Amino acid sequence: MPATSPAPILLELLRCPEPHHAPLAYDREANCLTCSECDKVFRVEDGIPVMLLDSVKEE
Ligand SMILES: [Zn+2]
Repeated sequence: MPATSPAPILLELLRCPEPHHAPLAYDREANCLTCSECDKVFRVEDGIPVMLLDSVKEE
């Protein structure tokens, strides 16, 4: 059973919470969202993207 993916409509509406508000790319294998501008990674839990900047892991 694959991890629950966010709804496509949700993915289209999602933008990075940083001021540039760049679109996010969904990584199905990692089950996370990556910003196309700043490369921040946001986790997806049970199909719900975790968009809090505090939860972003810096690498
Ligand atoms: Zn960003």
